[in-house]
Amino acid sequence: MLAPSPSRQGCAEITVLRERGQREVFCGLTGIIWLHRKIQDAFFLIVGSRTCAHLMQSAAGVMIFAEPRFATAVIEERDLAGLADANEELDKVVGQLLERRPDIRLLFLVGSCPSEVIKLDLSRAASRLSQTFAPQVRILHYSGSGIETTFTQGEDACLAAVVPELPAAAPHEADRLLVVGALPDIVEDQFRRLFEALGIGPVDFLPSRSATALPPVGGSTRYLLAQPFLADTARALEGRGARHLPAPFPFGVDGTTGWLAAAANAFGVGDAHLRRVVAPAEQRARTALERYRRQLSGKRIFFFPDSQLEVPLARFLAREMGMHLVEVGTPYLHRQHLAAEIDLLPDGTVYSEGQDVDRQLDRCRSARPDLVVCGLGLANPLEIEGITTKWSIELVFSPVHGYEQAGDLAELFARPLVRRDRLEV
Ligand code: SF4
Repeated sequence: MLAPSPSRQGCAEITVLRERGQREVFCGLTGIIWLHRKIQDAFFLIVGSRTCAHLMQSAAGVMIFAEPRFATAVIEERDLAGLADANEELDKVVGQLLERRPDIRLLFLVGSCPSEVIKLDLSRAASRLSQTFAPQVRILHYSGSGIETTFTQGEDACLAAVVPELPAAAPHEADRLLVVGALPDIVEDQFRRLFEALGIGPVDFLPSRSATALPPVGGSTRYLLAQPFLADTARALEGRGARHLPAPFPFGVDGTTGWLAAAANAFGVGDAHLRRVVAPAEQRARTALERYRRQLSGKRIFFFPDSQLEVPLARFLAREMGMHLVEVGTPYLHRQHLAAEIDLLPDGTVYSEGQDVDRQLDRCRSARPDLVVCGLGLANPLEIEGITTKWSIELVFSPVHGYEQAGDLAELFARPLVRRDRLEV
């Protein structure tokens, strides 16, 4: 149903520019901002420095009326100098936290650059604390440190830490679908309704809304990735017997239909039924995209590597919005998970993997694209040079998956161009 690009190349044939230089990205702690909203009885305790606390506070905004579900246990200078027992202090903080917040069912100890520098073993800390607080509270750990990560890897590390905790699916159970990747509740509900209309089920989501309702996993699990940055989680799921359903990602009409079609094929749903179920939503999405196509069509776009969403977004913008791709940079090009996307991208697409920020800035400046998608650190300098930018982090914070959000996704790219036009009048 989803035609490859007329000039498709096949994943194996693409040329990728590999960059290994200075990087300009947020760290994996950032994922806590959307994960803490999703898993409603979880708490994220960052074991880090005041810098980590400031990053989280400024990125998440100050929550005045809500009890936040994340905090930072600050490693002080005397901990860094080895003058205090950081483990003892951590145990004290966790004890106080769990006493004050009896609603917490899942506690993540989140490692940071400082905790890694002092080699604080959070895996041992998590199992030690579990002995005290299980079964009321499950205590897991993962690293969100900025050493060799991109910001979306925080979600991958978090979900990979949850996989060993998932209950085993009953043997000989009928196939069940697992959708993997944090989605806003409203989007999850829309997908649930579509799967139900297709007759696909049971369907589970990882992460689940509650830590006490973790989805089962086993040989009967067929999983669809909702995000392209979940390589470690996928590996962990396969270690539990789950099987991946290769598909494009559910961005825009083509991506969403391709994604649903992968599940439909695996669950024996006929093409005609799929077409009937998705047709009204496809039509609504196409109508919503129309006004933005007028603004985006023919415009040239350049992606800096940042969120790992770059390849699916480039496919959406090229195929459905008529944009020209100058360069599609991504921190990691996971060829297996992105195979269906790469097949749909135009011939001659320039990919770059990894980052050498100065060289990429040079290429960007000489290409003078109409729009650049990049991290916050690059956006202001480029804007000052007269280059219009879109913050890639916004694409992770906003609901952009599925048919009903296709128009909002397109608008995120159209808005900076419209703003630039207005400023120039
Ligand atoms: S984890 Fe590292 S990169 Fe992230 S805020 Fe803390 S110190 Fe900075």
